Amino acid sequence: MNRISHWINGTVVAGTSGKSGKVFNPATGEQSAAVDFASVAEVDAAVANAVAAFPAWRATNLSRRAEVMFHMRELVDVNRKEIAAMLSAEHGKVLSDALGEVARGLENIEYACGIPNLLKGGYSEQASAGVDVYNIRQPLGVVAGITPFNFPAMVPMWMFANALGCGNTFILKPSEKDPSVTMFIAELLKQAGLPDGCFNVVHGDKVAVDRILDHPDIAAISFVGSTPIAKYIYETGTRNGKRVQALGGAKNHMLVLPDADLNMAADAAVSAAYGSAGERCMAISVLLAHDSIADALISKIEERIPNITVGAGDDPTSEMGPLITGEHRDKVATYIAGATQEGATLVVDGRTNVPAQGFYLKPSLIDNVAPGMKCYDDEIFGPVLSVVRVKSYDEGVQLINDNLYGNGTAIFTRDGGAARQFQFDINVGMVGINVPVPVPVSYYSFGGWKSSLFGDQHMYGPEGINFYTRSKVVTSRWPDPRTSTVDLGFPQNR
Ligand code: NAD
Repeated sequence: MNRISHWINGTVVAGTSGKSGKVFNPATGEQSAAVDFASVAEVDAAVANAVAAFPAWRATNLSRRAEVMFHMRELVDVNRKEIAAMLSAEHGKVLSDALGEVARGLENIEYACGIPNLLKGGYSEQASAGVDVYNIRQPLGVVAGITPFNFPAMVPMWMFANALGCGNTFILKPSEKDPSVTMFIAELLKQAGLPDGCFNVVHGDKVAVDRILDHPDIAAISFVGSTPIAKYIYETGTRNGKRVQALGGAKNHMLVLPDADLNMAADAAVSAAYGSAGERCMAISVLLAHDSIADALISKIEERIPNITVGAGDDPTSEMGPLITGEHRDKVATYIAGATQEGATLVVDGRTNVPAQGFYLKPSLIDNVAPGMKCYDDEIFGPVLSVVRVKSYDEGVQLINDNLYGNGTAIFTRDGGAARQFQFDINVGMVGINVPVPVPVSYYSFGGWKSSLFGDQHMYGPEGINFYTRSKVVTSRWPDPRTSTVDLGFPQNR
C-alpha cells in the first residue's frame, strides 16, 4: 500500500503518530494509499523548521525570491499533465478539468513572480520640514494554509505563492482525502530553489489543525473549506491572536431573465452545475428561472444532460467523474431522494444507471424547489441543480440576498441596464454577467460575503499580499543643524 508521509525541512518524513487515513481512487472505489496523520509533536517539528528558515528567507533579496517563483512557474508548467493525473487519481475529476485547475493555480504563481513590484511601498518627501514618510511591507513570519479536497493543487497555490513571495515561511495542512499532489508540489518548490524549511506539509485531521490554531509561532492562517469549519478556524485562530482568512461554503444562484439567450443559459447552467461533479465552491447549484421562460429553459437543460459522459477521470472521453468518497455520494443521494418528499419535482434522477464500481452519481435536475426544502437550504456539493421559478427580477435578487451564503452568483440577460443593476444590488462577493463561474483572475482577489468568508481579506491577488504582510510606516529626518530647535509642542506639519 502506497504511504503518504509529511514533508518537513525539504524532505519526506515518515509519520510516527501511528494514526493514518485512507485515500481512495474514486473511480474504482478502492483504497490507493494511506496518509500519515500528524501528532502535535510532528506539527511542532514542522513549525520549528519553518521558524528556523524564516530569518534567512525574509532577508533573501526580492529578485531572488522572484527568481524562485519564476523557476516554480516553469516546473509546474512542464509538469501540468503529471499534476493533473495525480489530481484525477485521488479526487476523481476528469483530466481536462484537472488541467484547468493547474492552469488557474499557475496564474497565482505567475502573479507572485511580480513580487518586487507588489511589495513597493509609498514615499512622501517633505511631509514636514526635512521630514520624509514612507511605508514598507514586511512578512508576518510562519503562516499556515489548511485546504479542502476539491482543489488539492489550486487552493494551496492561491496561498503559498504570495505567502512565500512576501518572505514568509509556510506550513500546509492539505485535505487528507487527496494529499499526494502537495508532496509533488513540495518537491517542485525544492527544485525551484526554495530553501529547506520554507515550505512544509503536515498531513492530518483535527489534531493537526488544532495544533496549528494553538501554535504560538504561527502568525496567520488561510483556510478554505466548509462553513462550519471555516467559522471554527476563524473564531479559534483570532482568539489565539492570529490573523485569519477563512473561506467557507456556497450556494450559488444563477438568475435567468426572460430576454436571455436560452441556449447560452442552458449550456452555462449545465457546465457550471455538473462540471467537476458539482464539487466546486463556485458551482451553480440553484437556477432562478423567470416564470415566462422556465419551461423552455428546463427542457433545454434536460435535453443536454444525457449527452454528458460520466466516467473515470483518466478516460479522455469522460466529462464528469465520480464524487470524492462513497460516504459523500450517499449523502448527495439523500437530497435527491428527499426532494420529491418535500414537494419538488425530480426531472432527472442521477441515481440511475451509474457504474457499479466507484463513487458515481449522474447529473440530477430538480424543479419547483423552494426555500425551506433541504435541497435548497443546504450546500449539497454534488451534481444536483435545483430550479426555483421566480416571478420577477426583484424576487430573484431577494432570494440571493436572503441566502446564508454569498460566494458567487450570475445573471443571464441581454439587458445591460438589468445586469448593471444586479451588480449594484447583489450581496455576493463574486458576480458573473453571462459568466456562470466568475472565479477572479489572479490579479484580483477571491472571496465571498456572508457565511462564505470569515475575515477581512479575500484570498490571493492584492488582498493576498495585504494578508501576508504587515505595513510599517517610517517617519525620518536626517540631522540638519538649520532645523534643530527645542519645541515641546505636539509635532504638527503646518
Ligand atoms: P472541510 O471543511 O471538510 O475540510 C477542509 C479542511 O479542514 C481539511 O483540510 C480538513 O482536514 C479540515 N477539517 C475538517 N474537519 C475539521 C474539524 N472538525 N476540525 C478541524 N479541521 C477540520 O471541507 P472539504 O469537504 O474538504 O471541502 C469542501 C468544502 O469546501 C465545501 O463546503 C466548499 O464549498 C468549500 N470550498 C470553499 C471554497 C471557497 O473559496 N469559498 C473553495 C473550495 C471549497
